[in-house]
Amino acid sequence: MKSKLDTGNSIFTIMTELSNKHNAINLSQGFPGFNPDPRLLEMVCKYIRSDNNQYAPMAGIPALQDCIADKIKKFYGRTIDACHEVTICDGATEALFSVIQAVVYPNDEVIVFDPAYDNYGPDIVLAGGITRHVPLIRTKERPDYHIDWQRLKDTINKKTKLIILNFPHNPTGAILKSEDLDTLADILCDTSIYLMSDEVYEHIVFDGKKHLSLSSHDELWSRSFVISSFGKTFHATGWKVGYCAAPIDLTEEMRQIHQWTCYSVVTPIQHGLAEFMQTHPEYIDSLSDFYEAKRDHFCKLIESSKFTYQVSAGSFYQLLDYSEITTDNDVSFAKKLTEEIGVASIPISVFYEKPPFEQKLRFCFAKENEILEQAAEKLCRL
Ligand code: PMP
Ligand code: GLN
Repeated sequence: MKSKLDTGNSIFTIMTELSNKHNAINLSQGFPGFNPDPRLLEMVCKYIRSDNNQYAPMAGIPALQDCIADKIKKFYGRTIDACHEVTICDGATEALFSVIQAVVYPNDEVIVFDPAYDNYGPDIVLAGGITRHVPLIRTKERPDYHIDWQRLKDTINKKTKLIILNFPHNPTGAILKSEDLDTLADILCDTSIYLMSDEVYEHIVFDGKKHLSLSSHDELWSRSFVISSFGKTFHATGWKVGYCAAPIDLTEEMRQIHQWTCYSVVTPIQHGLAEFMQTHPEYIDSLSDFYEAKRDHFCKLIESSKFTYQVSAGSFYQLLDYSEITTDNDVSFAKKLTEEIGVASIPISVFYEKPPFEQKLRFCFAKENEILEQAAEKLCRL
């Protein structure tokens, strides 16, 4: 049968399998090397034991929808209607899928910023849409990866239906500045383009900076689907629970797809998450510090190596530049590093339509310090 998608395995599957095969330290696929908080585990188990094992409502259990609405109010200052504007999804992955299928019609164009998380492209293809790639840039004045506004303006046309943002950014760790939100609002003011903002690393932002959610901006919010994941925030990527927050008319559209794709999300975990968020609000407040210490530890360990870096501003990834080590391209160097040195990482060229010759690999530092130390010791040998 002819395949609808001809993508092969994702880079995360490829690198994790290679890592396992060579018994390497897996800093490739982004998942924490530790368990969720034991109190959260206990709460989930309690709900499993106390008969909360049948279907949840299609949009999520009200207690968890309320927690999301409270969180959006607390961090981004927006009051939203929990029941009609929050949908609990089967991970951020299903939220992304449902939004794209709801919004994108055949031949509509969707703009993504490269390097772009690999889930967006296939979802757009399945909707019959066309992906337009706008590379993030770095300049002398602004050395972080950021949006090239002129290029974005030049790419927008009558067929543009949706723009996908992802900050804190996977794989570069870049974050938005407040002027970025205003500039985006100005560019879009006379259009009916929708925004999908993938904010799964919203609670992992470093150096005293704050995440700028699209939900914090009046004009942007009215056209936005804001997506996040409990997996990143609660060290529980295997639970696959996320959500989409969007104004009521947009939510109604995405739920049309959500109800036929997934219908509802694992009940006892939703109850456990809601109780934990209600009783331990300080957990989220401390997450950035927790990961900032890991980022700093990893970077310090790498200082004496030939790798160079600009510290990550958010997410749990650090890019390392290996241009002082070899002229190899990133895909072959990532393979070599896994097979011969015993550390797996992610080559970032795979996230580009037209990759620049950048010799950078992405390392996940959401691991126990001991693991980071073992990995760094190997990387320093090069
Ligand atoms: N978006 C980005 C940018 C990601 O890095 C990931 C991976 N966690 C996801 C979406 C998917 O999240 P989930 O595991 O909740 O489906
Ligand atoms: N989001 C994870 C990462 O960026 C991978 C998720 C997956 O394997 N689908 O590494």
